[in-house]
Amino acid sequence: MKFTRLGDLLIDAGVITDEQLGQALANQKKTKRRLGDELVQSGIITERQVVDALTMQLGIDFIDLTTTDISPEMTKLVPKNLAKRYNVVPVKTRGDELYLAMSDPLNFIATEEVRAASRKRIVPMIAMQSGIDHAISQLYGTEGAKRAIREMQQEVGESGRERSGVQVSEVGADNESSAPSIRLVDNIIERGLSTRASDIHIEPMENEVVVRMRIDGLLHTEFNIPKELQSSLTSRVKVMCNMDVTERRIPQDGRAIVRVRMREADLRVSTLPTVHGEKIVMRILDRDKKLNTPEQLGFMGTNLERYNYLLGLKQGIVLLVGPTGSGKSSTLFTMIDRLNVEEVNIVTLEDPVEFNIEGVNQVQINEKTGTTFASGLRSILRQDPDIISIGEIRDQETADIAFRSAVTGHFVLSTLHTNSAVATLDRLDDIGVEPYMIGTALKGVISQRLVRRICPYCKQEHPATEEEIEALGLDPDLPENKGLMFAHGRGCAECYQSGYRGRIVVVETLVMDKHIRKAIMTHASRDELNEAVRRSGFEPVIENCRALVKQGITTVEEVQRVVFSDDE
Ligand SMILES: [Zn+2]
Repeated sequence: MKFTRLGDLLIDAGVITDEQLGQALANQKKTKRRLGDELVQSGIITERQVVDALTMQLGIDFIDLTTTDISPEMTKLVPKNLAKRYNVVPVKTRGDELYLAMSDPLNFIATEEVRAASRKRIVPMIAMQSGIDHAISQLYGTEGAKRAIREMQQEVGESGRERSGVQVSEVGADNESSAPSIRLVDNIIERGLSTRASDIHIEPMENEVVVRMRIDGLLHTEFNIPKELQSSLTSRVKVMCNMDVTERRIPQDGRAIVRVRMREADLRVSTLPTVHGEKIVMRILDRDKKLNTPEQLGFMGTNLERYNYLLGLKQGIVLLVGPTGSGKSSTLFTMIDRLNVEEVNIVTLEDPVEFNIEGVNQVQINEKTGTTFASGLRSILRQDPDIISIGEIRDQETADIAFRSAVTGHFVLSTLHTNSAVATLDRLDDIGVEPYMIGTALKGVISQRLVRRICPYCKQEHPATEEEIEALGLDPDLPENKGLMFAHGRGCAECYQSGYRGRIVVVETLVMDKHIRKAIMTHASRDELNEAVRRSGFEPVIENCRALVKQGITTVEEVQRVVFSDDE
C-alpha cells in the first residue's frame, strides 16, 4: 500500500473541501489531535464518512468488530500494549498474512510495528474506533481466563475418558488444586480488580456459569464459563477461603487475602446453594484504598460547609443516611479519619471491619460470639471514649444507647437506612427514639447517594433538551435555562462502553436548629416541620444533582436512576 495523506484522500473522495482541510489543519496545531479525529470532533464529517472514503479510495475492507468473533489465539501475535497504543486489533490469519483491524489504516508506523512483532505480512482492514475499543476490551481483558478455561476443558475431557464416562460432573473435584483452575480464579479476581469491581458474582445457571462484576454499582457480565468446569471453579474458591469443600448444601463464609500486581485485596467470600449449584459472591475490600477527603468524595458548597460544621461539634449524634450501596461507610471513614487526633479516644463498631485506621480502636461485630451493636456499645462506654462510631443503627436497643451516649458528653456517628434527611426523623420515631431525645441529641443528618461520573475519556457535550431540563425540575422557558450544555459519555474501552467511570456523592444535609427541634419535640404537623426545615437553609438533594449535571459531571438519566427511582 502506498503512503497517502488522509487529507488529500478525503478531498479526492469529495468528502471535504480544501478550505475545510485548511481549517482543520490549523485547529489541529492547537488541539494536537490526529487529523481524522479533528475532522470528526469539529463536526465537519462523521467517522462513518472517513471509513467509507478510506474503503473506496484505498480498497481496504471495512470490518464491524462489534459482531466479529476473534480467537483469543490472536493475542499471541499482537500484544495488548501494541493494540492499545495504535488502536489495532488482530482479526485472523491466513498463511503468512495477518488481517489487522485499524482505526487509521494509513498509520505506517503501526503497520510496521505489528509486522515486526507478529512476523506476518499485514493486511489492513478499517474499523470504527468504537469497534476497536470494544474488541480490545473483549480480547485482551479476558485472555488469561479464556486460556485457563480451555486447558481445564482439556483436562476434564481427558480424565473423563479415563473413567470411561462415569460421573463426569464429579471429575472436577479431583482437580481442585490443578494449575488451570487456580489460574482461572486468579484471572477472575485480577479482572475484578482491574475493572474496579466491588463484588464478583459467580452464578451457576442450568447450562453454564456466569461471572458478573459490580462496577460503579451495576452488574456487568464478564465471563461465561462452561458448565463442566463449575465444580473445579467452586472448589478452588472454597479451598482459597478455607471453606469446607465437601459441604455443598449449606451456605458458607470465608475470607482470603490476594496479591495481584503489588496490590493487596481482602476478599470476603460467601456461598449460597441454589438449584444449579453453589452461587459464590466475592466482596473485594481493597486494602490499599486510600482514605478520601470530603472534597474527593464530592462534598461541595453548602453541604461541605455543613459537613465541616457538624464534625467540629464535641458532643451529640450525627447520622449518615442513604439506601444500601450509597457510600455511607466511605463517608463515615472519611469523617473518622478527620476526627482521629492523638488527644481523643475513638472507638468504632463495625460489621465488617473494612480497613484499618491507625490510632482508632476498631471492634468487629460478631453475632455468633454475642458481640452485637448494642452489647459492643455497652462495653465501649466503659472504656472512656470521646468519639463513638456505630456501623449501623438497626434496632431500638442500639438507638437508645447511642442517643443516651450522645447526651452524656460523647460525639456519636452512625448510619441509618433511610432515603432522605427528613425521612430519618420519622424512622427514628418508628425505631422508638423519644422525640425529646431526638430533639436533644441529634445535631444533623447527612443523606447521600452515589451517581456515576461521566467517563472523562469519551465525554461529549450536547445542548440540553427540554425533557432533560424538566426532569431536573427546572422550567425550560426561563431565560437562565436557555442554551444550557449538558454532557454524556459516548462509551469507550476505558469505561467498558458504559459511558461512566467512577462515582460521586450527591448530598443533602440537615442541620438541626431550634425551630426544627421545637417542631419535633412538640409533635408539630408535617407542614410545620417541613417549613422549619426549609427555613433552616436546607437544600434538597436535587440542588446538588442539578449542579453536577450543569458542570458536566453526571447525566440527567443517572440522576433519575439513582435519586428518583426509589419507592420505599
Ligand atoms: Zn469512556
